[in-house]
Amino acid sequence: MAGSEDVFLRAKHRTFSGLAEGGEREWTGPFCFIQAADPQLGLMKAWRDGDCDGGGDEWAEEVELTKQAVEAVNQLRPRPRFMVLCGDLVHAMPDTPFREGQERDLKAALKGTDPSIPLVFVSGNHDLGNTPTPGTVEQYCSAWGDDYFSFWVGGVLCLVLNSQLFFDASACPQLKEAQETWLEAQLSRASSSTEPKPKHVLVFQHIPLYLKSPDEEDDYFNLSKTVRQSLLDRFKKAGVKAVFSGHYHRNAGGCHGGLDMVVSSAIGCQLGQDEHGLRVVVVTADKVVHRYHSLEQLRARGMDEDLRKLLQA
Ligand SMILES: [Zn+2]
Repeated sequence: MAGSEDVFLRAKHRTFSGLAEGGEREWTGPFCFIQAADPQLGLMKAWRDGDCDGGGDEWAEEVELTKQAVEAVNQLRPRPRFMVLCGDLVHAMPDTPFREGQERDLKAALKGTDPSIPLVFVSGNHDLGNTPTPGTVEQYCSAWGDDYFSFWVGGVLCLVLNSQLFFDASACPQLKEAQETWLEAQLSRASSSTEPKPKHVLVFQHIPLYLKSPDEEDDYFNLSKTVRQSLLDRFKKAGVKAVFSGHYHRNAGGCHGGLDMVVSSAIGCQLGQDEHGLRVVVVTADKVVHRYHSLEQLRARGMDEDLRKLLQA
């Protein structure tokens, strides 16, 4: 596997080559895509053992669930335009014992994805470390592609962000600055009157801005109030319609002030009452409709009928 042949390295030079060259800037009608999060190979057993910091020495269950997800997604008609995995691809932190095996086995499980459904990767705290360093970011990029980038699909602008740089950039302040500068340029271009206008702007990141309400207290599972408020203001000003995330291992979120904060449960370990699953997102000319589907439902019956109908319009 090398260079552009490697399906796991499609995000490079801050863009994504899994879709048409230069992206698809024209709206050509409704389409769907899949948003999933936290396959996190190794967490299920570590969680049962009560050792989530170390642990993670077995991951056969997550491999099986990831394969089920791939199988369910491959069967969908119409085909999703892409599948985005919103972080915590594996459980083992950078430079810890089981990291290599988990990454290898996740790639093997994802390899069955139909080649017409490009995979988009988002970095999570387990992928980069809770306090990322230039070294851990580089390791991630060489395994999965850029940690932040943008791409166009069917007239929609998608921004993939590294939320770890919002969470704790104390060990890599320059990387944080660079993402800030890049993000500012992306957002101002999205709302500029001289550039082609995206039908929608969507953001993908691992850590949610908030879980239920924009003014909730800081928590392990959300971004701090100051960072959150600043991002909310900038996203709204640029016309971002939805922010998709994971990290919580439960479904949550809410729509406030026209911005939809979507928190999706995991392919892997569940920390609440949800089932292993992923989210089907339908994009129409005027809305972005999404619903979490369990892997079981998706494999047996495909996406819900009302969503399928929206795609025929
Ligand atoms: Zn996480």
